[in-house]
Amino acid sequence: MARSAVVQEYQAPGRIEENTLTLDDKIQREIEKNGIVRPKGYTVSFHANSSVEKFHFGQSHPMKPWRLTLTKQLVMAYGMHTAMDLYLTRAATREEMAEFHTEDYLDFLKRVTPNNMLLEPRLAQYNIGDDCPIFDGLYDYASLYTGASLDAARKLCNEQSQVAINWSGGLHHAKKTEASGFCYTNDIVLAILQLLRYHPRVLYIDIDVHHGDGVEQAFWSTDRVMTLSFHKYDKDNFFPGTGPLSSTGPENPLNPGAHHALNVPLHDGIEDEDYVWLFKQIVEPCVGAYQPSVIVLQCGADSLGCDRLGCFNLNIRAHGRCVDFVKRLNLPILVFGGGGYTPRNVARLWAYETSICIGCSEQLDEKLPAHTPALAHFAPDNTLFPPLSEHGRFENKNSRQYLWSLVEGIHKQLAYLESAPSVMMQHIPPDLGGIREDVDREIKEEREDGDDRYRKQNETGAGTLGELVD
Ligand SMILES: [Zn+2]
Repeated sequence: MARSAVVQEYQAPGRIEENTLTLDDKIQREIEKNGIVRPKGYTVSFHANSSVEKFHFGQSHPMKPWRLTLTKQLVMAYGMHTAMDLYLTRAATREEMAEFHTEDYLDFLKRVTPNNMLLEPRLAQYNIGDDCPIFDGLYDYASLYTGASLDAARKLCNEQSQVAINWSGGLHHAKKTEASGFCYTNDIVLAILQLLRYHPRVLYIDIDVHHGDGVEQAFWSTDRVMTLSFHKYDKDNFFPGTGPLSSTGPENPLNPGAHHALNVPLHDGIEDEDYVWLFKQIVEPCVGAYQPSVIVLQCGADSLGCDRLGCFNLNIRAHGRCVDFVKRLNLPILVFGGGGYTPRNVARLWAYETSICIGCSEQLDEKLPAHTPALAHFAPDNTLFPPLSEHGRFENKNSRQYLWSLVEGIHKQLAYLESAPSVMMQHIPPDLGGIREDVDREIKEEREDGDDRYRKQNETGAGTLGELVD
């Protein structure tokens, strides 16, 4: 029997087998280990164009588009891409962006470069400066993240998808005629405008640490969009200084937008349980009173503990519980990124929230897959859930009494809506069929006149396993 023992020895070494596994094999193993399958009964779509990851705001600027590379690598290392429809998106056209932004602002974004900017007389008017610098390819950057958001919105409109994700979107500060807070075009506003062609009421929820001021302002005077922002508020010392509880829309009660802009202003240091409790206490009655037909969720990662610019003490799981809560409402959801300035934690969060969208978060191994390309960024723990709150630098200044006052304040606003239900229902688009055809036609045209370069990338399989290799 000595002979067979030798044979067994040749077969036994797991190490050799490990070394000969291809990347596909390793990903397949993660898929099986983590129970990653396409969700049943609904479709999740992932909208991205990797060109957006390569832009640089400047060495010392906190916004790092390569955080999206890290995010995508984690999503793919777990094999989550196999459970979603992947779309390689094109840049938004100028006409599409002009649905919200002014022609002169778009002209400016298109022509300005680091070399000619000093010749521009109106840099200040467009709010260009340290926060919103001019860098090479700025217009391409803005039109790429905006294009991905429009694509995601259209897939929801034509029901090809029920949960559409664009982590490069969520740039909630940009205004109609100016840049603001690292945002140049407001992809959220443009995506909501798409949704409004099909959906009667859109609920926008924003859990970035900063106030979602650009979106709030854009839809200030309509009851077709309700904006709800949870954020740190300090009028004089924290950007953008807007969004107190008392700001709820136009003061004139006859303006349809009255009571449709809700704000949940927080102090430093809020912690997991309080945040999730507050989120549920407020979101649930908003959905009940407003009856949205679709939800847009901005998942800014700067509300996590240890964020370079943030001041909350949230852990990744708690942030994800908010996404999970929204998902369980069983409405179509458009999921966006937003702020987030500690790239390794941004990637952890958005990969985890992708798993929530797919419905596989509970089985997900918190140990990051060993074949994750930039694993060194997640050292030394290599886990999805580092204890961010333990490193929290901020004392919790949000008393229970204060949190209750926020809940009561919001409920008071919602009572105005419940007392006027007829107002809520009168703005349903008159011809849904026509709009549907319109959207379908646009999608078809879009496919047909897609730019050759992107089509080529698509044909060579961008957004697939191959991306992990480099
Ligand atoms: Zn932010």
